[in-house]
Amino acid sequence: MTKTWQTKLIHSDAIIPTGYKSLATPVFRGSTTLFPSASSVNDTWDQRKVGYTYGLYGTPTALELAARICELESGKHTVLAPGGQAAISLINLALLQGGDHILVPASVYYPNRKLTGQLLSRFGVTATFYDPLIGAGISALIQENTRLIWTESPGSITMEVQDIPALATAAHARNVRVVLDNTWSAGVLFDAFAHGVDITMQAVTKYIGGHSDLLLGSVTVSDDAIHQRLGAAQQMLGLAVSPDDCSLALRGLQTLAVRLSAIENSALAVAKWLADRPEVELVLHPALPACPGHEIWKRDFLGSSGVFSLVFKTGPTQEQVFAFVDALKLFKVGYSWAGVTSLAVAYNIGRIPGRPPYNHRIVRLNIGLESTTDLIADLEQALSKLRA
Ligand SMILES: *Cc1c(COP(=O)(O)O)cnc(C)c1O
Repeated sequence: MTKTWQTKLIHSDAIIPTGYKSLATPVFRGSTTLFPSASSVNDTWDQRKVGYTYGLYGTPTALELAARICELESGKHTVLAPGGQAAISLINLALLQGGDHILVPASVYYPNRKLTGQLLSRFGVTATFYDPLIGAGISALIQENTRLIWTESPGSITMEVQDIPALATAAHARNVRVVLDNTWSAGVLFDAFAHGVDITMQAVTKYIGGHSDLLLGSVTVSDDAIHQRLGAAQQMLGLAVSPDDCSLALRGLQTLAVRLSAIENSALAVAKWLADRPEVELVLHPALPACPGHEIWKRDFLGSSGVFSLVFKTGPTQEQVFAFVDALKLFKVGYSWAGVTSLAVAYNIGRIPGRPPYNHRIVRLNIGLESTTDLIADLEQALSKLRA
């Protein structure tokens, strides 16, 4: 059939050579996915089973990222979400219903706590926030209607390392599933499934992305039935991921090992230096003995990453702690860690069950890829202003 030039803009017969191969996964963009015939149209989300059906369930770029995260975490299925928090919501909305109860560590990532307290509660899901160091004692908190035990190890900001195997044993004895937010270990420094976790998620935004320029999350499971529920919920909630972001995450994966190792060494050096400062009461870094759960970290983890907190001795006011953070020149102020730039954020944290109140004396640091010597010099000049 002959075509006008306007139609050629949409339906082209131009030919290019086939057989191209590069090392990079192409960015496959697309909402519409073509079917070979009218009768083959279907809207099944499980594209690994039925072939590609719609962009919402992922183009090959997203499916490759999911498969590679799954391989790294030794799972069976991985579902992607548009961010770490979206991954958290997806798990809860896929697996819970009104009348259910969940257990959530008091040290959990704050937006997770907010989702539970302010949204799930509206749909009749109740929650108990527990001492992150409770271990096997969790048994006493499990109710008839408890469905999930959330864990996050170490906890956000206060850094308690949890006894995941003990929690999992207690949970499984009562037919309750364990979910882990494994963001701090990038899904590689702690083997979730080997320690009894049923569902593991991470903010791919953090170490896999690695450059503070994308938002993505992943949920990985080893159970087919849970995967079916997650996939169906991902479809109904419409949690699409951008193939461009997935492509950046695939690039990030290639350098994850070298970035993590450089960041681990630098963060340890900075943490140890800080632990010896007279102004500092405590450094909450899982690899240092003063961190609650340090012995568990030693037992269960393959290494440490670059986020930890320091607690000042009683003395500085909130304003003085803010002034310390503002005096830092290399450490920038901002959320979302695990990129190449060091960050500092001051928090005000009241009492976590079983822990002393840190109040306004706690500052969380993210160590990036600047020279360790320069980072320590930066902290030293800011501490000297705090002393003055
Ligand atoms: C950042 C973070 C998340 C959320 O990730 P986003 O991609 O920013 O939504 C979840 N859990 C933890 C522990 C995080 O640090």
